[in-house]
Amino acid sequence: MATMERVFPCLTCKKEIRLERKADNTGWNKFNLDGSAHIHENKKSNNNTTSSSTQVAELTKKVETLESKIDTLIAQITMLRSEVKSKK
Ligand SMILES: [Zn+2]
Repeated sequence: MATMERVFPCLTCKKEIRLERKADNTGWNKFNLDGSAHIHENKKSNNNTTSSSTQVAELTKKVETLESKIDTLIAQITMLRSEVKSKK
């Protein structure tokens, strides 16, 4: 009962998504369960009007970039783990 499509919770926005290996094997494409491309849901509201808001936005962007990298790596590990399990 092996199925190619697996559902994972997105580690960035917690939404359930499907992962598909990119053709060039550089990573994963993310899809919503309805098949549309997954874009992280932004749950944070930005009502910061001070001058530090730009800095915060930059830092948030950096954090999100790193999170999405981790997200991809963990997804890869999860996929590989289940591949190993299925071969045992
Ligand atoms: Zn997401």
